[in-house]
This record gives sequence, C-alpha cells and structure tokens, in this order.
Amino acid sequence: MSGHADFDLFVPSEEHALFARLLRDFVAREVEPQAALHDREERFNHALFRRAGELGLLGVTLDEAYGGAGLDAVAAVQLMEALSTSDPGFALSVLAHAVLFAQNFQVNASEAQRRRVLPHAASGEWIGGMCMTEPGVGTDVLAMATRAAPVEGGYRIDGTKTFITNGGIDDGTLGDVFIVYARSGEREISSFLVEKGMPGFRLGQKWSDKLGMRASFTAELVFDGVVVPDANRIGAPGEGLVHMMRNLEIERLVLAAQSVGIAERCLRVMVGYANERHAFGAPIREHGQIQRYIAETFAEYRAARTYVYDVARRLDLGASGQRVDADGTKLFAAQVGKRAADAAIQVLGGNGYMGEYVVERLWRDAKLLEIGGGTLEAHHKNITKDLSRDPAALLP
Ligand SMILES: Cc1cc2nc3c(=O)[nH]c(=O)nc-3n(C[C@H](O)[C@H](O)[C@H](O)COP(=O)(O)OP(=O)(O)OC[C@H]3O[C@@H](n4cnc5c(N)ncnc54)[C@H](O)[C@@H]3O)c2cc1C
Repeated sequence: MSGHADFDLFVPSEEHALFARLLRDFVAREVEPQAALHDREERFNHALFRRAGELGLLGVTLDEAYGGAGLDAVAAVQLMEALSTSDPGFALSVLAHAVLFAQNFQVNASEAQRRRVLPHAASGEWIGGMCMTEPGVGTDVLAMATRAAPVEGGYRIDGTKTFITNGGIDDGTLGDVFIVYARSGEREISSFLVEKGMPGFRLGQKWSDKLGMRASFTAELVFDGVVVPDANRIGAPGEGLVHMMRNLEIERLVLAAQSVGIAERCLRVMVGYANERHAFGAPIREHGQIQRYIAETFAEYRAARTYVYDVARRLDLGASGQRVDADGTKLFAAQVGKRAADAAIQVLGGNGYMGEYVVERLWRDAKLLEIGGGTLEAHHKNITKDLSRDPAALLP
C-alpha cells in the first residue's frame, strides 16, 4: 500500500493551497477588523463585498468565461470556512450571492442569460440573492403562494418572499438580481430572474434585531404584478423544483462549512484562554472539566471538517446526487458549530459573555445554521427518506 499518505483532503492541489493563502490574508487584513462593528450596527459592508469581487471570491465557482475563478466545490468550502472564522454574517452574504444566486444561475440559465448576467455578479457590481421562502411557507416549499401567471410575452409575478439574504444593500436600496421561484401552474414551479427596476418589484422591509448574522441584510421582497419577460424565465416551465433541489446540495455543504469555520475560531479562542487564565494556582487547562470542553470540541470539529471536505471532493457542481450527504454535513456541522461556541463561552466564563472575545457573536451566528437552508428537522426527514429508499447504496 502506498500513495495515500500524500493526499491532503483539505488542500488537494496547489491551486487550493494558493487560494487558502489568499483567504488567510484577506480575512486577517480586511475581514476581521470590521466584523464586530458591522454586527453591532446590523449593517452590510458593501465596500468589503466589492473588494471580495475584486479578489475573485464572488465568482469562485463560475467559469472563467463569465469572469469567475473556475474553481470547484472544495474551493467554495474553503471560502465559507475561512470567512466564517471571522465574520459569519458577511460570509452569509457572500454565500447567498455566489452560491444561491450565481452558481445556481450558471447551472440552470441559458448561455445568453449567463453572458448577460454573470460577469456583473462575478465582479460584485450586481448583488444577487435567491427567493424561495415566503411569510407562510418555508420547509414546505411546494405550498408556496407566489404566482407567475402567463401573460403576453412573459409572466406576471404576484407574491411576497421573506428572509431573503441580500434582498437589500441598505435600508432604502434593493439588491440587483434574484432567482425567484414561483408557482406557474397547479403543481408546477418555475424559476425567474427578477431585476431591480422592474415595475412592481420593491423592498418590503429590512429584518432588524436578528439574533445573529447581523452583518447580512435580510429582507422581505414584494412582487406586485411584476411583469417578467420570457427572456427572464430560467430553464423550461416547471423546472423550478429541479433547480431548487440541485442548488440545495451545494448550499447545504457551504452552510456546513460556515459552521466548521465557527468551530475552528472557537477552539482557537478557548485554547488560548485556557493556557493563559489561572484559577486555583494553575492554568485552567489543567482542570479536567475544561479539558473536556476543549477535547470534545476538537474531536467534533475534526470530524465535521473531514465530512464536509470529503463530500466537497465528490460534489459535481453541475449535477445532483449528493443530497443525503449534503444534508448530513449540515445536520452534523451546524450542531458542532453551536456546541463549540457554547463551550468556548463556558471556558472563558464572564469574558466569554462579552463581545470583545468574539465567541459571543459566533454563538449568536451559529444558531442560523440549524435553520437556514433547511432546518435540522428537514435534514432528519431527507436523510431518513434517502436511506430507507436504498440502504445498500449508502451503507457499506
Ligand atoms: C437569516 C436568515 C437568512 C435566510 N436567507 C434566505 C434566503 O436568502 N432565501 C430564502 O429563500 N430563504 C432564506 N431564509 C429562510 C430559511 O431557509 C427558512 O427560515 C427555513 O427554510 C425554515 O423555514 P421557516 O422559517 O418557514 O420554518 P418552517 O418551515 O415553518 O418550520 C417551523 C418549524 O417546523 C418544523 N417543520 C416543518 N416541517 C416539518 C416536517 N415535515 N417535519 C418536522 N418538522 C417540520 C421546522 O423544522 C421548524 O422547526 C433565511 C432565514 C434566515 C433566518
């Protein structure tokens, strides 16, 4: 047996090594210094977003022909992991733009649509998002109420979408481009490109006082008789559900990567603190109960990271087929991230409760990963369904 020892799951190629270095520098120099302020002020950092565009991060998985970096799912995971060690809220905005909008659009739109839209998305000149959730419908997507009625030359969209990341840039400014899922027939969902400036399309409200992810802009968007031309329908009528399900695989994987980044930062903070803080005549790392927090978090972090990178390595961005593991990574990693932040606060005692030590913010941010892009319960349901259907394919 030989050869396996050289394989690095987390840095599989020189290209990934270079990307990791770029991310490390960007996070240390430009992301970290602004993170606490934007959380406190609940403000999206548009300038930093544009900077991420300059560095090629917003088009990480887009083909070079559309101005992208042409990288794979492993790179998308590296990106989300690295940003989330510092600013998970900003990372969520990048994720909604680069994965929920741009990557989704690359896979499902026509060549003409891609050429018109994706270069603006890759540069960050246009900010994009994806609209699935509605005030009355989240997990149960097939029950969505937003309608797309055929009219001369296109469709008329009526409805409201909510909790849309990047729905706005600031209190009065809509995001630029959105993939909107709407009901185009009794049991038929289609995808549409809706653009800022289309009559009837407006920002309903900005959600403020969010528990976490406060540096991302979460909006309610209103579609009041928005006439969308045929040229803005994405794919064939009725294909929306396939688009949605396909994109959910990479979405869940990169959300899981956010939790891995959160866990990594929490570990760094708690280990550093346990080495320096003394109680009862010894560094607190000497106390068994503190060791338990550190060791359990470390093992869980390693397991979550390995699972996420192993699925990323196998995920084909243009196809579906990894649903059970995309759900699996997020189900596991989301809980690891949350437990890691909780353990870090406990290890730091009163200081952990204070913003200065960062883990308080990460604790608030970590919760979103158990809800957004699929709740824990949705993952339970999907995984059990897929396992029951074909256990032999999934279990050795
Ligand atoms: C900060 C933030 C950003 C978001 N960004 C976006 C975005 O960009 N685009 C977008 O479209 N959406 C976005 N969402 C919405 C998110 O994806 C939904 O909140 C999520 O899918 C859950 O839907 P819901 O909130 O309607 O909860 P519901 O679906 O109403 O669920 C409520 C509870 O019921 C449970 N439940 C529902 N069905 C079942 C079942 N069959 N079995 C067992 N339990 C069940 C759920 O697990 C949950 O515990 C965002 C949400 C947040 C908070």
